Amino acid sequence: PAEPERPYRVVLLGASGVGKTAFASIFAGAADSMDSDDCELYELSEKEIEVDGEPATITLLDTWDTERYMQTGDAYLLLYSITDRASFLRASELRITLRRFRPAHHTPIILVGNKCDLVRRREVSVSEGRACAAVFDCKFIETSAAMQHNVWEAFYGIVRQLRLRRDSK
Ligand code: GDP
Repeated sequence: PAEPERPYRVVLLGASGVGKTAFASIFAGAADSMDSDDCELYELSEKEIEVDGEPATITLLDTWDTERYMQTGDAYLLLYSITDRASFLRASELRITLRRFRPAHHTPIILVGNKCDLVRRREVSVSEGRACAAVFDCKFIETSAAMQHNVWEAFYGIVRQLRLRRDSK
């Protein structure tokens, strides 16, 4: 049997209010999680999930201390809300900052358009999201944390990208 791998550190990035906490709580689910009920600026939870028949352990970091985690993550979920154009612009800025911190790394990043259940409040179209991801050379997915739609797919996508990178070494 293969050696167990160290946990992948996956960081949630994005403007305030886009759904990072909602993502983190879906991820944490019923599993053990270390919640910060004091006013710490991050939450951390670790969980084993199965992706394509193979287990993967993810340590999820939900943070506002962006700069610190720009340097420590193995992969990033870059969230915006489809109902908030400013958060979409913020995601682009974060992508640029990320590239500056991780120039040489092919760090897996997925651009996540959350709140896709709020169809009538949409400010960012699917094609804009997709185009932005293409420009930034990352994957794209729309999700609804409220409806629990595509949230796990985003995590599976991250694990698949990390494995592709691992297997190509
Ligand atoms: P954070 O600041 O990025 O951590 O955002 P939160 O997870 O705290 O979410 C901000 C608000 O948006 C909360 O009221 C959530 O309930 C709501 N929210 C998060 N995700 C969704 C979603 O997919 N759909 C809808 N309708 N509301 C959402």
